[in-house]
Formats: sequence, structure tokens, C-alpha cells
Amino acid sequence: MICGAGGQLGQKLIGAARASKELRIFAYNRSALDLTKPEDLRAAFAEAKPDICFNAAAYTAVDRAESEPDKAREVNVEGAARLAAACHQRGVGFVHFSTDYVYDDGYNRPLRESDRTLGTSVYARTKLEGENEIMRHNPDAWIIRTSWVYAEYGHNFLRTMMRLGQERESLSIVADQVGSPTYAADLAAAALSLAASEAPSGIYNFANSGVASWYDFAHAIFEKAGIDCHLKPIRTEQYPTPAKRPSYSVLDTQKIAAYAGPPRHWREALEECM
Ligand code: NDP
Repeated sequence: MICGAGGQLGQKLIGAARASKELRIFAYNRSALDLTKPEDLRAAFAEAKPDICFNAAAYTAVDRAESEPDKAREVNVEGAARLAAACHQRGVGFVHFSTDYVYDDGYNRPLRESDRTLGTSVYARTKLEGENEIMRHNPDAWIIRTSWVYAEYGHNFLRTMMRLGQERESLSIVADQVGSPTYAADLAAAALSLAASEAPSGIYNFANSGVASWYDFAHAIFEKAGIDCHLKPIRTEQYPTPAKRPSYSVLDTQKIAAYAGPPRHWREALEECM
């Protein structure tokens, strides 16, 4: 059972599950299963009778969340906890997704699952609270923290760059925030592998390997797409946003690699996506 099936990760989870002939897939987008509606949940469980549930549904508008904290909370905390509890009551496996933004932005080495958390934006705090509520309601849950997710469709940095790169002659892109771009297809495959393994419940990081700034990522996108747009590196202060982003969010993925294999380099994944 896949919730949030209309999103970038949801779509890739469907694709990854289809590749495994043993799985029967029940995929629900927001109009079929709204996490804020308990009656939708009951109907979906009655129909799908799942063995395992993947929650790709979330309030993901990071900047808008600053002015809509209640809406973000309703989905990322209450909705996620409700789904986690429903799975636990029915003995259904549960895989949830969280974000690199939950980490304390004080590290300058790859972030481990046991590192301090903080959450410097509304979105980050709702995702962190969501994790805690999920673990409280469902001690068997797997929670995968990921970063900088993109796919061929949806709202993401890759698609924004492809559009702006064709419209503009030059672009200023933040160069002092570093992380690991993550192809949604690789994340979906890792989530399925984790759920099929003997991995204990708890928190796992997943991102493609390698480090990039947003500037590096944009540069690689333009190079692969053959877009001739001048890129200018800028500092975070020169591009203020309502929600604060971490300056360093490279994820250590050793823990998940033991069950899902080592992630490939972000440049290799980008090559496949474009
Ligand atoms: P998307 O925004 O592409 O997809 C999220 C989906 O959730 C959308 O289809 C949305 O539907 C749906 N949704 C929103 N509210 C509800 C609700 N109340 N009930 C049911 N569905 C709802 O996000 P991603 O696929 O990129 O994100 C997947 C996961 O990864 C999320 O947990 C996110 O927090 C996490 N993540 C994402 C990152 C990124 O860079 N994108 C980075 C780190 C973590 P609709 O479009 O109709 O609103």
C-alpha cells in the first residue's frame, strides 16, 4: 500500500514495486486517501489489506509552512501518526520518509542517525515531531531520512533549473549550502530493499553518495542538458527564504547500505534521470 502516490517519491515507489512481480500494489493519491481523514484510512485498509505500507504523503512546501504551521502539522505529525498507528494495530509493516532538515546544523561531517536533531523551520519541526509520534505509536516502523529529492516530474530543483535555464541568460545559485541530491527512483528502490530485509526498525539515512552545493547541482544539470546559461555562485544571505535551510546536510548512509546496498553517486543517478 502506497500513500502519497501522486508525489515524486510515490510515483517511483509504484515503479519499483511493479518491478517486483511478487507484489500486488494498492496506490492512493491524496484524493483517494487523505491522511487527515480517518475514514479514508479505514476504507483504504479495508480494500488493500496490505502486508506493508509506504508513506510518501507529506506537506512538503518548506517555505509556505512558515505561514501555514497548522496545515503542515496536520499532515506531517497527526496524519503520519494516525497511519503509523493504523499499521501497528493491524500488524502491517510501515515505512515512512523524513528529512535531512531535522538534524542540528552544527556538524561538518556526514550526519549519522544518532546525531543531534533540532529543526530550524516549521517544516523541519513538523517532520521531527512526526518521527517521534510515529515511533511512539509504532515501534516497528522504519523511518528513512533523505535529502534534496528530485525526479523527472514534480516540484524539484532539477525541474526548476531546466525551466529557468531556458528562460534566463544568467542565474545566481546558492553555493554555501552542501548536501546530497537524491534521485527519487533510488530512494524508492532502497526503501523496498529495506522493507524486504531483516533490518531492525528505527531511523535510516538515504541519499545518493557524493557532495554538492546547489550551485554544483545546477552546473551538472546545465552541462547534461546542454543549457547555455551563465551561473553565478552566491551566499545564502543573498537569497533569503522564509524557511532557514541547513548549510551542511550530507548524510552518512552506512547503516542502510548494510540492508539496501551502497547508494550510487548523485552524478550517475542524475545522468539516468535526464
Ligand atoms: P511531493 O510533494 O512530491 O509529494 C508529496 C505528496 O503528498 C503529494 O502528492 C501530495 O499531494 C501528498 N499529500 C499532501 N498532503 C496530503 C494528505 N493530507 N494526504 C495524503 N497525501 C497528501 O514530495 P516528495 O515525493 O518529494 O517527498 C516524499 C517524502 O520525502 C516526504 O515525506 C518528504 O517530507 C520527504 N523529503 C522530501 C525531500 C525533497 O527534496 N522533496 C527532501 C527530504 C525529505 P498534493 O500534491 O495533492 O498536495
